Amino acid sequence: MARKFFVGGNFKMNGSKESIKEIVELLNKVDVPESVGTEVVISPPALYLHWAKLHLTNTAIELAAQNAYPKVSGAYTGEVSAPQIKDVGAEWVILGHSERRHIIKESDDFIAEKTVHALESDLGVILCVGETLEERESGTTIAVCTRQLDPVIAATKDWSHIVIAYEPVWAIGTGLAATPADAQETHAAIRAYLTDKIGKDQADSVRILYGGSVNGKNAKTFNDCPDIDGYLVGGASLKPEFVDIITSRS
Ligand code: PEP
Repeated sequence: MARKFFVGGNFKMNGSKESIKEIVELLNKVDVPESVGTEVVISPPALYLHWAKLHLTNTAIELAAQNAYPKVSGAYTGEVSAPQIKDVGAEWVILGHSERRHIIKESDDFIAEKTVHALESDLGVILCVGETLEERESGTTIAVCTRQLDPVIAATKDWSHIVIAYEPVWAIGTGLAATPADAQETHAAIRAYLTDKIGKDQADSVRILYGGSVNGKNAKTFNDCPDIDGYLVGGASLKPEFVDIITSRS
């Protein structure tokens, strides 16, 4: 089963009109490789989604929000809704990022509620899971990932618009990427779990991205990992080396 290579760029709370325009203009010039069916999605802060859309001319690149509240509209000060995200031209949303799980204290159930709402609102979801260093050292990596997936599995039958990002918290922003062997082992375990829970067909077609200190140099080292279908990239997505990650499988 061929799964399309997927590269997401998570700008987090970084950037200005000027710097985001610069990145978008650089990406406009990229010949996104079709040979591996590459999908590229960039995620500037919500404030700049419309700005990015205005400058994005590369039709091979789409936009994602970094969060979406599970209501269409209303008295939810500071939040953004899925219809608003769509209205400014984005097609995706990142949910369950470890910074939202650990800093904002979003629960597994709330992330599942957001996932269902985003899917019902016709957004694709990049659903992040991953363990802390403490959890890894105590041997609970798979248990943590499956616990994070469980409420989504319970609430969603159709996984065709979900891309999973396995992002070990200890690898995010640290410069210490997981080894290809370690990442592959966890990806395979996640896929095996999904096979059991949502069926082989869906588990075989869902993309599982690796995220955590991927850069222009190490991206290619994951190319031979059969269960790694792309990357969610933080820091390096703000730099020209993001282009090397996009083209790393061509
Ligand atoms: C991320 O924020 O999703 C991420 C993977 O960050 P970095 O690439 O900087 O580790």
